[in-house]
Amino acid sequence: MEILVQKYGGTSVANIERIKKVAQRVIDAKNAGNDIVVIVSAIGGETDKLINMAKEIDKNPNCRELDMLVSTGEQISIALLAIALNARGYDTISLIAQQVQIYTDTSHTKAKITKIDTRRLFKEIKKGRIVIVAGYQGITEDLEITTLGRGGSDTSAVAIAAALGARVCEIYTDVDGVYTADPRIVPEARKLRKINYEEMLEMASSGAKVLQSRSVEFAKKYGVTIHVRSSFNENEGTLIMEGEENMEDVLISGVTYDKNQAKIVIIGVPDQPGIAAKIFSMLAEKNINVDMIIQSSSKDMVNDISFTVPKEDLNLATKTMEGIVEEVRAKTFECNDKIAKISLIGIGMRSHSGVASSMFQVLAAEGINIEMISTSEIKISCVIEESQTEKAVKAIHKAFNLA
Ligand code: ADP
Ligand code: ASP
Ligand code: MG
Repeated sequence: MEILVQKYGGTSVANIERIKKVAQRVIDAKNAGNDIVVIVSAIGGETDKLINMAKEIDKNPNCRELDMLVSTGEQISIALLAIALNARGYDTISLIAQQVQIYTDTSHTKAKITKIDTRRLFKEIKKGRIVIVAGYQGITEDLEITTLGRGGSDTSAVAIAAALGARVCEIYTDVDGVYTADPRIVPEARKLRKINYEEMLEMASSGAKVLQSRSVEFAKKYGVTIHVRSSFNENEGTLIMEGEENMEDVLISGVTYDKNQAKIVIIGVPDQPGIAAKIFSMLAEKNINVDMIIQSSSKDMVNDISFTVPKEDLNLATKTMEGIVEEVRAKTFECNDKIAKISLIGIGMRSHSGVASSMFQVLAAEGINIEMISTSEIKISCVIEESQTEKAVKAIHKAFNLA
């Protein structure tokens, strides 16, 4: 029998009625002759609720305890789904990360999966059971509970699919696939039938939260095809798979936005060798992921350095910056969390010039100021004022005929 791995996100298990609907889908897949392993997220909104409770007590909650807290969200949903399936007469067992043995590194709240022990999973599958696994969580070698970063159940699912040797991992969510832009903002966005790993990775890492980017990395590394589908209908979704060629024969695959970034500018930095190394190693020591970096040209032997960090790291980054400013003898620093990063992604860009300038023209025509720019072979990103996000995404989507 073939092992089918399915993942259901928060909206798909938002309440008891939805959990019963998911149970029916799992039963259908089982009756179709598959061995089923299901990865489940916490009930929609539950993770936010738990984080907010912690933050009511402490703005920077202890990360180990935060993981202890938020990992409970998935423990609730897996048990409810297993209860629903057992009630329907299907032998089912739910397992948390300790029970499966999903190992991660020790970076609390953004841990990376290092190893998955498949013995327990195979043992349960052999008994004919449906296995339900808690997404988003792992354990360290010292049995500490970790979580994989927001949206991490996608990564749990693909990593488990890879470990079990499943060919396909179905990701069920509230949209029926990956679109050329977030369909919540651009209703005329078009569903992509297929997209290759490389483009999906750029889309996910630049804000298309339909998949956590680590899940795409796992899929690419282990050759797992991801099928993004809706748990609300039977539509064919989007396949994410290997493909050298531009799978839809278009220049641009999509436009994304990320409001989850903040900008930091260090002002009056001495223009000397080793200063940038010092600044960014001090941030790296605190496990803060820096994305875009821009250094202004030197004037009177000083310059400014701007960079972006995830908003959730801003408190920690601000604290760290105080030390950095002193250490490198900069003048001061400023933070701005009212920014957004808009990105245009497409493998076709490799062989076409002029995409960047067209994007800048679209933003200019809308009167939107570009604060930072970065490019890769298949992506162009601009930082703009957060309040202009929707306008920018819609205008770019239209200008590049993505609908
Ligand atoms: P889940 O709880 O199932 O993991 P998420 O909320 O994490 O679901 O991800 C699904 C959401 O991703 C959609 O509701 C949609 O608004 C958003 N999204 C952003 N960009 C895209 C895109 N390009 N294609 C599809 N969905 C997108
Ligand atoms: N429940 C976690 C979150 O809200 C993980 C996930 O949904 O994938 O981020
Ligand atoms: Mg998600």
